[in-house]
Amino acid sequence: RELPGDPETANFRRQVADACYSRVNPAKVAAPQWVAYSREVADLLDLSRELCASEDFTQVFAGNRLARGMEPFAMCYGGHQFGFWAGQLGDGRAINLGEVVNRHGERWVLQLKGAGPTPYSRNADGLAVLRSSIREFLCSEAMHHLGVPTTRALSVVLTGERVIRDMFYDGNPRSEPGAIVCRVSPSFIRFGNFQILAARGETELLRRFVDYTIRVDFPHLGEPSPAVYADWFQEICRKTAEMIVHWQRVGFVHGVMNTDNMSILGLTIDYGPYGWLDNYDPHWTPNTTDAEQRRYRFGQQPQIAYWNLGQLANALFPVFGEAEPLQAGMSAYAETFDREWQRMMAGKLGIADDRPATDEDLIIELLVLLQKAETDMTLFFRRLASLDTGGDRPDWKTRIAARLEDCYYRPEQLSADYLERRDAWLGRYHERLRQGGLPDVERRRRMYAVNPKYVLRNYLSQLAIDRAEQGDFSTVDELLDLCRRPYDEQPGKEHYAAKRPDWARSRPGCSMLSCSS
Ligand code: AMP
Ligand code: MG
Ligand code: MG
Repeated sequence: RELPGDPETANFRRQVADACYSRVNPAKVAAPQWVAYSREVADLLDLSRELCASEDFTQVFAGNRLARGMEPFAMCYGGHQFGFWAGQLGDGRAINLGEVVNRHGERWVLQLKGAGPTPYSRNADGLAVLRSSIREFLCSEAMHHLGVPTTRALSVVLTGERVIRDMFYDGNPRSEPGAIVCRVSPSFIRFGNFQILAARGETELLRRFVDYTIRVDFPHLGEPSPAVYADWFQEICRKTAEMIVHWQRVGFVHGVMNTDNMSILGLTIDYGPYGWLDNYDPHWTPNTTDAEQRRYRFGQQPQIAYWNLGQLANALFPVFGEAEPLQAGMSAYAETFDREWQRMMAGKLGIADDRPATDEDLIIELLVLLQKAETDMTLFFRRLASLDTGGDRPDWKTRIAARLEDCYYRPEQLSADYLERRDAWLGRYHERLRQGGLPDVERRRRMYAVNPKYVLRNYLSQLAIDRAEQGDFSTVDELLDLCRRPYDEQPGKEHYAAKRPDWARSRPGCSMLSCSS
């Protein structure tokens, strides 16, 4: 049905006290045009291929029409941005369309991003540009196929309208094509949804919201009670730890780990100036806004998640009434992270009989080596899998050294000392694998299953964006398809597994990104 219009009065920017959300309809747009959709997400929603290619689909997911039962709303939340309390933030350009319960009984929330202003838009326009929409769409799906907990993306559509952004190219405002992504998740609730209620002293509403979240998103925990609250917080902490371990495994840097960008379900959420490590560098962040302090750098993501959970714990305290279960959750985070990180790294190395006490040295030394030599992280682990441990391969060291050669961004700078140290590490690693006793073929299979061949390298998204801005969406589809099987050899697609080309080293969009989106 057609939208009833967009009542200005319900939509003015304001502080929304004593509420978890506000009703607001998407803005109508001039000329919606379909860009891409994910057939896997369509399947989750029981939407047929024909429907996804229809005019109706484009109109609904551009925000021009509502399907039966949709009652759009924007959520109220706050958050700590870069370590400081920022007050009310909220869905400033996200509008929830409603929930779908699919044929498996799963519940999915549909949310348009970039569909116009809401009461939470503050001084911004509520819109999104094609560039950032393609980045969110592709990365959500790439992360899912990598096995990383994440929100999903159904579609990207162009609005047919221009959006003004001050671009990072030269700092001058320019207009860009507007677009809308439909994001899909079991829940879009963030740490910040609880924080805003606590900050306003709305304790009774906070309690109701906690109970709602437990009943709807954590039904396996049972009816809310003090004991269930404790279990709930611990589960949030564990899930968050598991998510971060996955990020560290695949080399993902979120870029803006503000508490409003932390999902209560431990899902990766809000893809903005994120990036993928090309060369392994724990100090790297793609976010230009954070270039000085580097708060959200790759190597600090685990500590930041812990800090963020601490802020959530503070917010929940008035409802819990005691600190102990909250402290227990924080400890569960640390334990889960340490254990799972160790296991993950052992897995990346193909060590099946994980021995935390002694393997740690081996892992730490490797990370030092990778960093010292500008080594492509993804290529390195993939190549390392080809190492031979069988007795019939006395030349194993020269063979692996040759395989590793093109993982380096500055091969001419590898000193004799460095190579000696690396080869010493390879020797220890080789010995360790022989102790572990997995046959090479089996070890390789396991390593390939956790070390992706294809990740959504920053320069690849940028290629798709450059073409899409010229009206050619084929590279978006091609990358989506590539990312469906990130662990598989994909003959003919090898060029997408190559390390970042030199031209992309410092090109905006390929290395650093601003929040402008
Ligand atoms: P982010 O840095 O993308 O996580 O956004 C932080 C806050 O700013 C959230 O409340 C967003 O909804 C809001 N926001 C970001 N961009 C826009 C925009 N173009 N229009 C309105 N609100 C926005
Ligand atoms: Mg956000
Ligand atoms: Mg955002």
